[in-house]
Amino acid sequence: MNLVNYKEEAQNLDKDDDLKSYREKFFFPTTEADHCIYLVGNSLGLQPKNVRDFINIELEDWAKYGVEGHFHARHPWYSYHELLMETGAELVGAGKGEVVHMNGLTANLHFLMVSFYRPREFRFKILCEGKAFPSDQYALESQVKFHGHEPEDAIIELYPREGEHTLREEDIELAIEEYKDELALVFMGGVNYYTGQLFDMKRIAAKCHECGITVGFDLAHAAGNVPLNLHEWGVDFAAWCTYKYLNSGPGSISGIFIHEKHSKSPELPRFAGWWGHNKKERFKMEPGFDPIPGAEGWQLSNAPVLAMAPHLASLEIFKEVGMAKLRAKSLKLTAFLEKLVKAVSAENGAKLEIITPSEPENRGCQLSLLTHGYGKELFDYLQTNGVFADWREPNVIRIAAVPLYNSYMDCYHFANLLNEALKKY
Ligand SMILES: *Cc1c(COP(=O)(O)O)cnc(C)c1O
Repeated sequence: MNLVNYKEEAQNLDKDDDLKSYREKFFFPTTEADHCIYLVGNSLGLQPKNVRDFINIELEDWAKYGVEGHFHARHPWYSYHELLMETGAELVGAGKGEVVHMNGLTANLHFLMVSFYRPREFRFKILCEGKAFPSDQYALESQVKFHGHEPEDAIIELYPREGEHTLREEDIELAIEEYKDELALVFMGGVNYYTGQLFDMKRIAAKCHECGITVGFDLAHAAGNVPLNLHEWGVDFAAWCTYKYLNSGPGSISGIFIHEKHSKSPELPRFAGWWGHNKKERFKMEPGFDPIPGAEGWQLSNAPVLAMAPHLASLEIFKEVGMAKLRAKSLKLTAFLEKLVKAVSAENGAKLEIITPSEPENRGCQLSLLTHGYGKELFDYLQTNGVFADWREPNVIRIAAVPLYNSYMDCYHFANLLNEALKKY
């Protein structure tokens, strides 16, 4: 196969890419090969070069001020989390008071379920996608057990139809309708981590509300990847991590969304801590929890400033670019990558099947490739030659071309190596 035409096309697309300068704002890992084709921004985003400065400011101020840094640091730690609120909210289509950053993602799922999974006698079930990320499965299972139920009775997992890889939107709606009198919660990923399917969250939320069911989303693979409009969609709650598409470093701080309609509901139980308490009264250290209205009222501990600093650095970049431009490039970049993968596969006996939906509105950056008849040696060849991708047993390769720092030439280089690997094995 002649890949040369694609090379020229990639070079031209890169030349015309108005986001191309952002690639320079990130560190790419060094490899044994002479290049690095980084296609795992869906797992751990690259380090923005401005992160070090943001962390250094806090290290310097800690050294200079000690405890006084809570009020006298350049970014006072007492209110540090507030610096993330506005851009963090914009990113997911929320009002400022609806988003706060705290803890890790799975911890937040539990804290949110304290408030939003309220099983009653005949309505105690949770509907979720089959093959959800394991941590989400464990969280849901342990939550239903905590309330005295068995996961087999209380968790309904939705699977694609026979012979299909992804869920049909109408089947999700039908399931909600079918179980509506038994469901306490519908909880799904915004983008499934395995298939890369982007769910129609607006439609799911509308159906849930029609049936009087609380609905929440895990946005680990959606935040910073696809445009979100959580407030308008009427989603009740959501949480996400910031180390995947949001480039904020390993295990970094998580974001939560709580719809305004719940912000002042005193009947909602929650696990409270002093950072969720009325800011004016907090340091009086008096008994009687008085929650801050909005998502901030769900905070427990004082802000982990050194974990928040990289996210502040990263959000600065997102604020500058905006999700609209990122999505526009992402659609083109992913379509190009898909075209190349299909061409390479066709050339080599059609052994690769893309299980991610082909409609752009049903996916983000990620493509999941099922490698019929190939084992991990295919993946190892790519890895040895400078490709960072992700292998899921038994035979799925996940790749994500991220619009902030991936180029069309990255896609070309990947396709070229894939072609070599398919010929070799
Ligand atoms: C990455 C990911 C997680 C990871 O959870 P942590 O608590 O951040 O370790 C959880 N759920 C989903 C859907 C993910 O994609």
